Amino acid sequence: MSGPYNLKYIHLFVTEVSPGAFILSRSGRMADRVGRADHNLLDDLQGVAREGKYRYFWFEYTPKPMAAYALECAWFHRYHPTDNAEHPMAPMGGDIPCQVKGCSVASMAPARG
Ligand SMILES: [Zn+2]
Repeated sequence: MSGPYNLKYIHLFVTEVSPGAFILSRSGRMADRVGRADHNLLDDLQGVAREGKYRYFWFEYTPKPMAAYALECAWFHRYHPTDNAEHPMAPMGGDIPCQVKGCSVASMAPARG
């Protein structure tokens, strides 16, 4: 993971079209929101950034959407971001439970389908 970077200069830092995971922060010290992109990190990061008064971000590219999801889950459990109302959702078409140890979502039977 690299950062924190100022959101104003997002284009200088996020230059690849790639899946990935990100953290948004108002203070630059706390993780206020975590998220991920299955295809284009820059697009999704900007979209989520618009929803809150964030100023800073961290990010990491991943080769696959599943890896981005795993990272998003890991950060969600590690940082307890206050702006994430719900546990991250698996990528479209994947009914893959969260891999983080002790996560209640992991033992939950899929309700969809
Ligand atoms: Zn989890």
